[in-house]
Amino acid sequence: MERMTSPEIAEAIAGGYTTVVVATGAVEQHGAHLPLFMDAEHGDRLALEVAERIGGALVGPTIRVGCSQHHMSFAGTVSLERETFHRVCTDYCVSLAAHGFRRICYIPTHGGNFDPLREGLAALNEAAGAECSVEAYTNLMEVIDVWRDIAQREAGLGERVGGHADIAETSIMMALHRDLVRTELAEAGFSAKPEERAELVDRMIREGFAAVTPNGILGDARGATPELGERMIDGLADAMAATFR
Ligand SMILES: [Zn+2]
Repeated sequence: MERMTSPEIAEAIAGGYTTVVVATGAVEQHGAHLPLFMDAEHGDRLALEVAERIGGALVGPTIRVGCSQHHMSFAGTVSLERETFHRVCTDYCVSLAAHGFRRICYIPTHGGNFDPLREGLAALNEAAGAECSVEAYTNLMEVIDVWRDIAQREAGLGERVGGHADIAETSIMMALHRDLVRTELAEAGFSAKPEERAELVDRMIREGFAAVTPNGILGDARGATPELGERMIDGLADAMAATFR
């Protein structure tokens, strides 16, 4: 939508493009090897891929800054309070519904946005009005599973997926902005055992990321490639689109 003109958007909506996909990212630390806009840029690309797969969908402006309180001990991280995030999502819904969109699909590309979206969904639906439904992809564990399966199948490195600044996100950034990845600084971070993963997410939100992983990485960033990144983007877009279908 941001690259279109207003008349083009009106025409698209009239022609049946009544769904809008909105990514919610983050601008936060991603280890010493990835730039802060990892999740925001990933969101821009993923939203396009999801919209193409759903059909009849435009891509709204990515909410680039998210709920990153648990990353605040790392320099540069910018975070929205949960309430601010919810208000921004609400105002998006009101605006988009006013133009005739009938369905708003939120896709978080940052772990800290999953819970706020899930919990705020009923209120977002109310704000959008009776003519417009608001949905959100909120299956964080599925994201990790998709990435792990791909890393395992393509490179035998499934155990390096931990969910943050790992082989998956590093590969994705290589696919998006190869020149911005400090490959020589890509290293291992904290890796949880499978049965500890759900509890780990909880602990990071409560105690902060640095308490779990001093270098800011969950998983292992080594072995990343742009080709792997393209597969990760495709695989996650497939999973998200399947959920919305
Ligand atoms: Zn990230």
